[in-house]
Amino acid sequence: MLILKLFRFLANTFLIICLFGCTTSNISVNETDLPKTQNMLQPTITASVLPTATSTNQPTPTNELGLLQNDNLNSFISYQIRINYDYSKQSASVSQSIKYKNILENPILEVLLACDPLRIDNVFRITSTLVNGISKEVEIGEYWLKIPLESPLEKDQEITIELDYELLLPQIPAPAGDQKPVIFGYTTLQSNFVDWYPMIVPRGEDGQWILHKPWFYGEYLVYPLANYEIDLTISNAPVNLIVAASDLPIESTNLSFVFNTSQTRNFVWSVSPSYQFSQAEVEGITVTSYYFPFHKNAGEQVLTDTINAIKLYSDLFTNYRGKNLTVVEADFLDGMEFDGFYFLSKGFYNLFDGTPKGYLTTIAVHETAHQWWYSQIANDQALEPWLDEALCTYSEYLYYEFTYPELKDWWWSYRVDFYKPEGKINASIYDYRGFLPYRDATYLRGAKFLQQLRDQMGDEKFFSFLKSYSQINQNKISTSKSFWDVLSKSTNDPFTDLKSEYFN
Ligand SMILES: [Zn+2]
Repeated sequence: MLILKLFRFLANTFLIICLFGCTTSNISVNETDLPKTQNMLQPTITASVLPTATSTNQPTPTNELGLLQNDNLNSFISYQIRINYDYSKQSASVSQSIKYKNILENPILEVLLACDPLRIDNVFRITSTLVNGISKEVEIGEYWLKIPLESPLEKDQEITIELDYELLLPQIPAPAGDQKPVIFGYTTLQSNFVDWYPMIVPRGEDGQWILHKPWFYGEYLVYPLANYEIDLTISNAPVNLIVAASDLPIESTNLSFVFNTSQTRNFVWSVSPSYQFSQAEVEGITVTSYYFPFHKNAGEQVLTDTINAIKLYSDLFTNYRGKNLTVVEADFLDGMEFDGFYFLSKGFYNLFDGTPKGYLTTIAVHETAHQWWYSQIANDQALEPWLDEALCTYSEYLYYEFTYPELKDWWWSYRVDFYKPEGKINASIYDYRGFLPYRDATYLRGAKFLQQLRDQMGDEKFFSFLKSYSQINQNKISTSKSFWDVLSKSTNDPFTDLKSEYFN
């Protein structure tokens, strides 16, 4: 009985790993062994359940792609954030100062910030807003803050916004088949701070703020580059509390840390009294793998794969941009990338069989590839999710091809062909009718498209194209248009058949 119960628990656990987030592995468990509630795991989201594409709550959205090409346009953002985190209460008092310079011709009449914690009730409470030292009313939306300005912010003018707010971390809910896993919040094992602060969103060249609405699956935020000075003090915590952050601290005493990170997409951190870690340096980059007790072997496999992947992708694409990569075992059923940081679900650690032939390695290198396709070469994750997810999924294959060539065929059959994927790959997250159609198209068919592109171009031209595309879009927000533009410089082939097979 116990064994059966354990099996069912494991089966439930593994089937729903990553159904909604970044990594999308879907471990095959015989559905007849599962209790009925698992039917919820299938793509039950129907058109009638989905909100309409334009919501009145959504401020100044834009679908204008191609306007984001030069992320340097958005790089005049710096954050100074002082955070006092009370571990025993899972609450934090935050003072955040943002310096922002308008470098576009279009004047700014109101500043728009994404504020993801607002999506959960009673988590985010703003106590003070100052603009250039003067107190202001802020408009609070479902997932954003809007600050009207006294007078237009003209080109080359700078503004300072100071926000004081309280965060009460939500408890991360138990996994449910019809819910995207929650990352921000705490469990008995860890507390995670992701998208935890109000973030200035990028602007298109027409001056529009670019903020899409959250969705049932996939990612919705577009991250401009920014500089971060973070001053973190933790109180009422166990002495053995470990902090895992997206950068290494420049100062640390007891439970106080100072971080200073420039030109990064976000700043993320996680704490746990249970973390153990293994660390190594590769080509000047510190890689740390944090894991829970009993997962040392898996945690070290993750470290090895991450290091090998950094070396490979640095050769194939562009140099790794930062000096740090932090990997954290996640106490939720998903993997998720951030700049300099990724989570990897405990489900993969539980499944680890001592070999790279499994999801632990597959997803570790997928998330590592996001340090290129997401961090360095960003994209609009809501409108063009294929740009990072197809490339990250294909990067998994490249890892096996170059590191464990005997597993190449296994990867195609286990990761892609098993699901018989269908669908055009270049739709927005809002266009797919459920998670599985989204995954099958953007991730799995995305990888097939890249393989066919490679077969058609030949290895030399294909890898030279990947390098050019990476270098041209480094530190920018890329677009499909840029992908095809760079490709057209690498070859005269119009790829008519490929386009009609894979693209709308
Ligand atoms: Zn991904």
